[in-house]
Amino acid sequence: MSSFNVKSLDDLPNDTLNQKRVIVRVDFNVPIHNGVVTNDLRIRESLPTINRLLEMNSKVILISHLGRPKGKRSPEYSLKPVLDSLKKLLPNVTIHFVETIEELKEKSYQINPKEIILLENIRFYEGEEKNDPELSKKLAECGDIYVNDAFGSAHRAHSSTEGIANYLKPAVAGYLLKKEIEYLSKAISNPEHPYIAIIGGTKISGKIDVIQNLLSKVDKLLIGGAMMFTFYKAQGINVGKSLIEEDKIELAKSLLDQAKEKILLPVDCVVSDTFDFKNLKVGSLQVVEIHNIPENGIGLDIGPKTLELYSKELENAKTVVWNGPMGVFEIQDTAKGTLEIAKQLAKITKKGATTIVGGGDSASAIEGANLQKEISHVSTGGGASLEFLEGKILPGISILDKK
Ligand code: ADP
Ligand code: MG
Repeated sequence: MSSFNVKSLDDLPNDTLNQKRVIVRVDFNVPIHNGVVTNDLRIRESLPTINRLLEMNSKVILISHLGRPKGKRSPEYSLKPVLDSLKKLLPNVTIHFVETIEELKEKSYQINPKEIILLENIRFYEGEEKNDPELSKKLAECGDIYVNDAFGSAHRAHSSTEGIANYLKPAVAGYLLKKEIEYLSKAISNPEHPYIAIIGGTKISGKIDVIQNLLSKVDKLLIGGAMMFTFYKAQGINVGKSLIEEDKIELAKSLLDQAKEKILLPVDCVVSDTFDFKNLKVGSLQVVEIHNIPENGIGLDIGPKTLELYSKELENAKTVVWNGPMGVFEIQDTAKGTLEIAKQLAKITKKGATTIVGGGDSASAIEGANLQKEISHVSTGGGASLEFLEGKILPGISILDKK
């Protein structure tokens, strides 16, 4: 597929970067509370690219969005808290902040190499999300080279993620984007076998394209999360009051018909008599076999027998892709399935397996368990990683120069 052979920073001759104005589209869409960045992971993840450019004597121009200000300037979506974080992470670098593209253009000529300019939230411009060519051209004039390092936004064709690359060449991938492409493409183009996908989360509907795309490539597909109940309902099994998608029962049936030998479903689950997600409260919990779910039972996690079965399947896997938690991991009592699977992935990673986790909630489950360093790759892009796993071509990647 064409998006795998895009050029990265390393494919540019070194002198290309010397004294040049390099625009880097980063993903600084970070959580901010009372004007302070509460999780700077995404900022830290952009440092390899930024540091490389500083090393190569470039002028570094950083562009990012934050939240959804809908084309209007509003202080609550300002990137100024990000500026503070960035200054802390790069204490010896001069970092300028500009409010507008006009200011950016002017300053881009004035600053010295090895300095940085951070532009205020690009979504303060209405044209950004519309991929307005005029905005793209204006942005392109602020630099000599374009680097996209914002994987989390690569599935959107916006001015700063796609449009700009029509007017500014070379246009290449930064290190974070490169890493994402390398791992995720391994999961869909030439995985080492045995290859296992684990799919969970709430809904089949959100995951159907991922399931369909992976089904032809994997040796086994392990199902967890609420979607398991729709699969069981499709087989006429009583699932009590568990969450199901009535209108996806037929789909679940046809998936099972297509690939019965590949799809593994839980054999037991943890049920509760009450469930209040808003207040993160469950009632009295019990483990039941899948065929014994009580009338008022709400299935909230996979059970111990399932864990044993899945762990065994995973033992000898060489490639694993995981998307979607096994249960309601936000509540400690129903987080075990997700946690244990995460631990098993950490274990096989040590033995040499490639393990890839995609999806926003799955990634936060891994981070919550502090296992991110023990997994080969935890994708930083929620929606983007899903679309990648669906086999879609992401506009922010496909627009970049090819090798
Ligand atoms: P990701 O963001 O990793 O793609 P999803 O958004 O598809 O994952 O699903 C995550 C959500 O699924 C979590 O909020 C989790 O609580 C929920 N979930 C998992 N299992 C169940 C279940 N049995 N019943 C209700 N919700 C569930
Ligand atoms: Mg989610």
